Amino acid sequence: MNLRTTKCECGYVFTDKDVKPPLMDVSMLKNQKNFYGGTVKKLCKAKCQCGKEYLLYLIPGKTFTIKDMEPLGAEEQKAIEKKTNQRRKRK
Ligand SMILES: [Zn+2]
Repeated sequence: MNLRTTKCECGYVFTDKDVKPPLMDVSMLKNQKNFYGGTVKKLCKAKCQCGKEYLLYLIPGKTFTIKDMEPLGAEEQKAIEKKTNQRRKRK
């Protein structure tokens, strides 16, 4: 569920400074070709100072542009952990 904003409920606006590894490929989490017209290539988790967690949708460039984001609940967290762990095992 995308929010169509990069602003947290508390008023904090996420910027490229909030983009921290590990970045995930869109294909790992989204079963969607051409996510945002193919512009959004990476995803990363970010935690706001108020404690809320989000998944940021990133467009790569000189710095990352945050196109959009979605709130991260326990369900999504679990799904992400599962997928990133699978990936690690495969290497
Ligand atoms: Zn916040």
